[in-house]
Amino acid sequence: MNNEVNLETYEEKKLRLIAILQQHSAPEIRLAKNTSNLFRDRKNISGPGLNVKSFNRVIRIVPEEGFAEVEGMTPYVDLVEECLKYNVMPPVVPQLKSITIGGAVTGIGIESSSFKYGLVHETLQEMDILLADGSSLTCSPHNEHKRLFFGFPNSYGTLGYALKLKIRVVPVKPFVHLTHIRHRDAISYFADLDNHCKQHIDFIDGTIFGPGEYYLTVGKFTESAPYTSDYTYKNIYYRSIRERESDYLHVGDYIWRWDTDWFWCSEYFLGQNPIVRRLLGPKRLNSVTYTKLMHLNRKYNLTHYFNTLLGYHSEAVIQDVEIPLKHCPEYLDFYFNTIKFTPVWVCPIRPLNKNARFPLYPLDPETLYVNFGFWNVIKSRKQTEPGYYNRMVEKKVRDLDGMKSLYSDAYYSAEQFWEIYNQEEYFKLKNRYDPRGRFKDLYAKCVQHG
Ligand SMILES: Cc1cc2nc3c(=O)[nH]c(=O)nc-3n(C[C@H](O)[C@H](O)[C@H](O)COP(=O)(O)OP(=O)(O)OC[C@H]3O[C@@H](n4cnc5c(N)ncnc54)[C@H](O)[C@@H]3O)c2cc1C
Repeated sequence: MNNEVNLETYEEKKLRLIAILQQHSAPEIRLAKNTSNLFRDRKNISGPGLNVKSFNRVIRIVPEEGFAEVEGMTPYVDLVEECLKYNVMPPVVPQLKSITIGGAVTGIGIESSSFKYGLVHETLQEMDILLADGSSLTCSPHNEHKRLFFGFPNSYGTLGYALKLKIRVVPVKPFVHLTHIRHRDAISYFADLDNHCKQHIDFIDGTIFGPGEYYLTVGKFTESAPYTSDYTYKNIYYRSIRERESDYLHVGDYIWRWDTDWFWCSEYFLGQNPIVRRLLGPKRLNSVTYTKLMHLNRKYNLTHYFNTLLGYHSEAVIQDVEIPLKHCPEYLDFYFNTIKFTPVWVCPIRPLNKNARFPLYPLDPETLYVNFGFWNVIKSRKQTEPGYYNRMVEKKVRDLDGMKSLYSDAYYSAEQFWEIYNQEEYFKLKNRYDPRGRFKDLYAKCVQHG
């Protein structure tokens, strides 16, 4: 990349893609890209997808004006690498290197800076969208397509594909100083989290290791550091939270602190065993490797067969949910009595712009929410109906006025689903931007595995 606008290259690629799409004869369209962090299986995939792999470049970064232009399928690892050369970063960088900017906008992205900057889509200024009929348009908060701009987050590629995005970037310092603070009860934990969100800090997230073992991790940028830790190979970041109160990381290592071990989920592939770690080597210890393994596992149903052989019934519970702060102790109580597995990732988020409304993922701008991320398989000797545990989570989240991301399994009835994700606005957008229904609708895609 150089610092000049290279719109021709992008425009050329776009024209080529439009021509391909106009000749695409399959009744439905889907994306073909290099990586995916989607944890829903799709039924009846047939024919080739629309190849958008080449839309993976950072077009330009303009630090003095605080923005970057980037193609929609650019993985964050590449975007962050370019940004750091200019001492800036996107305000919210999802934790996994392979997540793409377009995927994070359409599929809801958050991080430990979300208490300050909101969700990924709130850092967006403009998007070029490819529509199902092969036309393209630019939408922004102020032009004639502003409804699409606000309706795009949580549409999961059912309204159009983001080919180019203009996003905000913010300055960084070279290091991040981390403080890990332990709490023993949920009330004081969430009160302290609320309190920290009102202070001058740069990052905050949390890790819950079990009842009575709750940690907040507060991050502040610094110009210098007495030492730095390295969690990209032999040492494991999430373990360090229990072992030390203070730590320093290079800013890039902070941004990717969770990637090496996919939070803690590398454990399921024996990735935390020192011998396996040495065999894999630092280049393969990352979310790209684990998602490939996970997709293979799901494709061939390996865990399911293995558990059945041992006489277990199993259900994957891979969810991220947002709960209003005041209900968090109640949510945790429910969690420890039902889902139970730990660790759980905790991340406060607050909508940034009090006046902006993103109707397909409606959050109250006056409320601080806490994201709980929990990803594991529940095994039991007792047979339960499909989705038993996931349905319990969905119900509890609804009861507590929370929201659930749709990147993983969902079991809502159509009625429940559309009550939450704004049927009226969605179909207004669908009728205007995909009137022939060449993309599946959101319910068909996210719940019925279309
Ligand atoms: C285990 C796990 C942990 C996660 N943890 C986090 C987390 O900590 N923080 C966080 O922010 N997010 C997290 N996510 C969610 C993740 O950000 C979303 O799933 C996101 O949509 C993935 O983006 P992707 O680029 O990998 O897209 P894909 O997985 O390839 O696609 C996701 C969906 O978006 C659509 N899509 C992809 N690109 C575009 C585009 N350019 N335009 C329109 N539609 C598009 C696809 O059609 C698909 O429906 C997690 C997901 C998983 C599975």
